[in-house]
Amino acid sequence: VKFIKTLPKAELHAHLNGSIPISVLQDLAREYVSSGAPPVSETGLSNEAIQAAMNRLLDGPTLDEISHFFTLFPAIYALTSTPEALARATRAVLSEFLDGEYPQCTYLELRSTPKETLTMSREKYVRVVLGELARYGVQRVGLVVSLDRRMGEDVLRECLDVAKKLKGEGEPVVGVDLCGDPMAGDMASFQKYFEEAKSAGLGVTLHIAETVNNPASETLQLLSFSPDRLGHATFLDDVAKKLVAEQNTCVEICLTSNLLCKTVPTLDDHHINHYLRENHPIAICTDDILPFRTSLVGEYALLMAQPPLGFGMSEDELIQVGTRDIVLIGPELPSHLHKQNKEEQEDDI
Ligand code: 5GP
Repeated sequence: VKFIKTLPKAELHAHLNGSIPISVLQDLAREYVSSGAPPVSETGLSNEAIQAAMNRLLDGPTLDEISHFFTLFPAIYALTSTPEALARATRAVLSEFLDGEYPQCTYLELRSTPKETLTMSREKYVRVVLGELARYGVQRVGLVVSLDRRMGEDVLRECLDVAKKLKGEGEPVVGVDLCGDPMAGDMASFQKYFEEAKSAGLGVTLHIAETVNNPASETLQLLSFSPDRLGHATFLDDVAKKLVAEQNTCVEICLTSNLLCKTVPTLDDHHINHYLRENHPIAICTDDILPFRTSLVGEYALLMAQPPLGFGMSEDELIQVGTRDIVLIGPELPSHLHKQNKEEQEDDI
């Protein structure tokens, strides 16, 4: 485990509101409920509904399908809907990934969807998150602004404008993401926003082919946006696989997330096997450590564990996966991620 802990690692697919430590969320929930506060989020959830969702979180992930998992978020949003609570939650997420003797990762591209609440505009939301990122500096963390598939054009425009504006101010907004309910939205209306993001120098990462129900035509449409990275890419057909191989697009792999959301039945069936066989760039990521109760160290441990529990990778293979192939959409590859072989790695231990 020490080897994994000291391996320089980048976490490139972590959703802020899916990564809040449970203790912090519980504190926020206790304060929220005891204050007798009315529903404060745009979701308009009642305290009872929030409490029910909290109980589900505390009972452990009963995530039979990917759709169950999405029902947790409205409650979490209610708890992070003031600037103070959002700052506390963000600070805890950053600390979870970046603090301590052996931080989970040496570089983090954290992503979040700007939300409008009674006390925050979307711009304020992003500024609050960036205020916390500033404690670490651009060599350690960047922000990816998520665009949710359920967003209408007004909100998409607002989010993109906020991302461009803050990047223009020199803030570490490194890119935009497409996320949210995998079956929602018409991707044709998103194209111009992603094109505009690219023209503004923002990186683009897209959740793609996440469920078996995502049509092949949509996958091709999303690939035509020329993304820098792909989230999941679980159900690519042969045509899409060929395109992804030609474009050499880095795929963000979230093993535990896929297993618990049951989009992949076993590690043996996981699409990582295809990308490993093809020597295709991948980045090992956590997705949402809160409901999936995982960590980046845990995800790497799955790579090293012997089959059938894991992939039985050697230390050298792990270094290759961890540091050689990843593609940042943020700044240049920080030098601490340039480690190429075990000897260099051992020098650091
Ligand atoms: P946030 O953007 O609010 O910080 O993080 C939570 C949001 O990320 C969720 O509401 C959802 O839109 C998105 N999200 C988290 N995990 C996944 C995932 O595995 N797939 C997709 N498509 N979206 C996700």
